[in-house]
Amino acid sequence: LLVLGIETSCDETSAAVVKNGRTILSNVISSQIDVHQKFGGVVPEIASRKHVELIIPVIDQAVHDAGIEKKDLDAIGVTYGPGLVGALLVGLSAAKAMAYALNKPLIGVHHIEGHIAANYLQSKALKPPFVCLVASGGHSHIVYAEDYHKFEIMGQTRDDAAGEAFDKVARALGMGYPGGPLIDKAAQAADGRLIDFPRVRFGNESLDFSFSGLKTAVLNYLNKAEQKGEAWDAQNVAASFQQAVVDVLVENTLRAAQRKQVKIVALAGGVAANSSLRKQMKGCAEAIGLEVCCPEPVLCTDNAAMIACAAYYEYKKNNISDLSLNAVPGLRLGER
Ligand code: ATP
Ligand code: MG
Ligand code: FE
Repeated sequence: LLVLGIETSCDETSAAVVKNGRTILSNVISSQIDVHQKFGGVVPEIASRKHVELIIPVIDQAVHDAGIEKKDLDAIGVTYGPGLVGALLVGLSAAKAMAYALNKPLIGVHHIEGHIAANYLQSKALKPPFVCLVASGGHSHIVYAEDYHKFEIMGQTRDDAAGEAFDKVARALGMGYPGGPLIDKAAQAADGRLIDFPRVRFGNESLDFSFSGLKTAVLNYLNKAEQKGEAWDAQNVAASFQQAVVDVLVENTLRAAQRKQVKIVALAGGVAANSSLRKQMKGCAEAIGLEVCCPEPVLCTDNAAMIACAAYYEYKKNNISDLSLNAVPGLRLGER
């Protein structure tokens, strides 16, 4: 069973062909980073225009790379939310047009369910239930994946998402956009003593996160140093900030896993590409007998293979969308 996945929720134009929900035949990702970099973040209107330019060539490339023809496809899966509305509409319109022209089922996919599904591509034997940390540019969720279609949000951020905090701190450090990979790299080169930035916890019951206080603490640290005319060490600040984020992400995820008594912990979203998070999650989880699944970095950040995978499981459950499907920018997990 061959599913074409299409993803345009933010600044990646991506199309992929996945076989039987688990085998990637192609995964074409065209990133617009260069275009948005000079603005220090994604400009929605520019993102939509770029998607319009790229969507047809990217889809054609994905079909070509998979060594198939469009008529061989069994279904078209597409992200319909959450994300930037103008960006989502481009992928969605292309998917609808293809579904109509080829007379194949259209399957609307939740972007975050796609991120979680990346784990099924990474580990072919993985089956729910498991607990998944979803840490991305717009979300910081701890999700109990009870089944392929059943999700419970056990904890979430009360303010900034983890990726957002990475991006804002990187900007303050003058590193550029997107900040996550730059902070990751700078932190690896740090050799100074770590600054003790705050880790926010909400007591025993809650698995929620908060990153805005941490971001403010970093900004205050930089401002104070500047006022005193002292130089700050960007690598050391990056490492200290990253460690504070990683500590709470790992801690809460493992508490969630113990609460649900699952054997497996999975990672998803762009921040899951972070080398320190991956290492610490592995070390701490394995120490208490839990297995960790972390998709390779290209499957953590936005890509269409994860969308095709999630669409496959929707198809199996006969969750076919109508051609009137619309983009839902604020779509919540578990909603359709
Ligand atoms: P969402 O999935 O919530 O809609 P998004 O699609 O914009 O948001 P992703 O593409 O999943 O987010 O992830 C992008 C985020 O991941 C950015 O904030 C980026 O800085 C962060 N990121 C990417 N690589 C790393 C890394 N190595 N370390 C930390 N953060 C990273
Ligand atoms: Mg992106
Ligand atoms: Fe994403």
